[in-house]
Amino acid sequence: MTPSRLGPDQLAQLFVQAGGSQKYARLMANLAQRESGGRPTINNRGTNRNGTVDWGLWQINDIWRKDPVVGPLFRSGAILTPEGNARAAVHILKVQGPKAWATYQPGTDAKYLGGFNGATAASSTTTPTPRAPAPAPAAPATDNRAARGQLVNQFLNQHGSDPLDFAMGIRALQDTPGAASTPAPRAAPSGQASFTTPPTESGAVNFEGKQVAAWIAPALAYARKHGWRGTVTSGYRTFADQTRIYNSGVRPAAKPGTSNHEGTQFPRGAVDVSDAQTLARILQNSPYGQRLKWAGAKDPVHFSHPHNGSY
Ligand SMILES: [Zn+2]
Repeated sequence: MTPSRLGPDQLAQLFVQAGGSQKYARLMANLAQRESGGRPTINNRGTNRNGTVDWGLWQINDIWRKDPVVGPLFRSGAILTPEGNARAAVHILKVQGPKAWATYQPGTDAKYLGGFNGATAASSTTTPTPRAPAPAPAAPATDNRAARGQLVNQFLNQHGSDPLDFAMGIRALQDTPGAASTPAPRAAPSGQASFTTPPTESGAVNFEGKQVAAWIAPALAYARKHGWRGTVTSGYRTFADQTRIYNSGVRPAAKPGTSNHEGTQFPRGAVDVSDAQTLARILQNSPYGQRLKWAGAKDPVHFSHPHNGSY
């Protein structure tokens, strides 16, 4: 019988037994906890706008149904078993690397690589609560420890809370490094809109085909799940994008170099959407209400985190 939730050691062992390398075992266990809270049978139906669904422990996206290794695991239903999902994860890791998971963070996740020997004394084999990702090592400019703690309590105390909402909430409440340098933005990858779409180094991720700041995506995914039917009309913009928009005469538009659309590191980052009123209403009563705010009458399509007089 399959336990309702798997802990980090169980997940790491599962990954190795499915043919995964020791080197990646702890990282992959961690990713499974972020993606599914260690629950083998969950899916995120209704979250991905392109209609695809992410399945099981490692939230394997439907696009992998066409893959010669993963496809049969879908057809047999094994994708919702711990073993079958682990086999899919091992294969996807080989094909795309850990960046196949949007929750992977190359910098802070390096500490999970290497050294898994099948069992660790420090943690038990069953862990009843999903763990929040460790805070960034740099001195945080935003410290959301209290907010994360609150979210954990809320999740544990409400029977039947949605683990996906919880995971997205924790992700949105990551601490933001203060002085840490951010790699320069680079071109967006082409790819599918899904949980398994790799983030770019700039901190932009693919939300339903549009590049948006990584901290904004979970809020949009949450809103999508809770009834928002609009779309992102404009998310992350390069300097060239902003110049084009500004020169076109469209207003309101910030001068190139000053728009929050041109940043991805919280509190910078912005999205323009359709059906903004619904999004605003859903966000207000969500864990993201204090992060992502509607500009309202000033710019009725625009959402961002107002700071230093900019929005
Ligand atoms: Zn805008």
